[in-house]
Amino acid sequence: MAQILDGKAYADKMLDEVKAAVEARAAQGLRAPALAVVLVGADPASQVYVKGKIAACARTGVTSIERRPASDITQDELNWLIDELNENPFVDGILVQLPLPKHLDAKAALHRIHPTKDVDGFHPLNQGRLFEGLPGLRPCTPSACMRMLKAHGVEMKGKRAVVLGRSEIVGKPMALMLLEEHATVTIAHSRTLDLPSVCGEADILVAAIGKPGLVEGSWIKPGAVVVDVGINRVTELALGERIFAAEPEKLAKLKEKGAVLCGDVRYGEALQVAGAVTPVPGGVGPLTIAGLLRNTLDACEQRGN
Ligand code: NDP
Repeated sequence: MAQILDGKAYADKMLDEVKAAVEARAAQGLRAPALAVVLVGADPASQVYVKGKIAACARTGVTSIERRPASDITQDELNWLIDELNENPFVDGILVQLPLPKHLDAKAALHRIHPTKDVDGFHPLNQGRLFEGLPGLRPCTPSACMRMLKAHGVEMKGKRAVVLGRSEIVGKPMALMLLEEHATVTIAHSRTLDLPSVCGEADILVAAIGKPGLVEGSWIKPGAVVVDVGINRVTELALGERIFAAEPEKLAKLKEKGAVLCGDVRYGEALQVAGAVTPVPGGVGPLTIAGLLRNTLDACEQRGN
């Protein structure tokens, strides 16, 4: 039976560290770091994510500032809002919650954020620094995953790592971070041929594709460390019956509630073959928020109060 990598427990530890650092700053007469969250419109999923981020700020003593423009905001108006936050000396981190309404250019908005306040690590300057192996603000999900893997003593040097997914938010930065730790890294994507055998080579397998239960237990190398980044909402019973064969409690929940969350990996099957695996929920999701708070603290300290 695989070890369960409890992302929630590790995220709690990271948040406690941020809280202790904020308290240490206060003891020196320094202000709390401040995170500005921009939520355009009223997308229900985004509202849930933003609520979680604001709650994590409250828990750690980080000041949260909310800007909630209406969904018909123009690109110019959004740019001005970001400029105002860029210029505000009391704001350390700026997060524009995605997705944005279709008429807005998300990339333009993200690139507008000053690199020193780019706590999501999506600005090209910060991505370039990661590419060059320089310190800087790094995307929250992969950087928090890496912290957790290191904390669990997962050996990466010389190991085969396979990252499923090549997004700029998760897949590509995760691959670069694994490379930095001297893993031999393969990035797979929707055009990769024979995904099962590519996955089967991985000592460390990271799934970030957004396809519920795509990765079957038989694809996983015995003893591999599996990090499941995917968060999917399954509502179809036929799909659930296929992917939850080894998780009867999840199937029962789907039948009862009509929807369940799951990752890209068939967790019940992975438990039988992997050496360690992250659950969904309670794995990478909480780590992402903890990574955001850590980045906000780092941004504050790097800006020199
Ligand atoms: P994207 O949609 O931006 O990227 C998905 C990637 O998966 C693409 O590179 C795509 O390939 C690849 N892909 C899609 N289908 C397949 C397939 N059948 N076989 C192989 N590769 C495939 O997603 P994100 O990176 O933003 O997110 C991925 C997942 O992680 C989602 O479920 C998302 O909800 C979740 N997520 C979770 C977070 C957390 O906190 N736990 C944070 C961020 C994301 P191609 O490039 O060829 O199209």
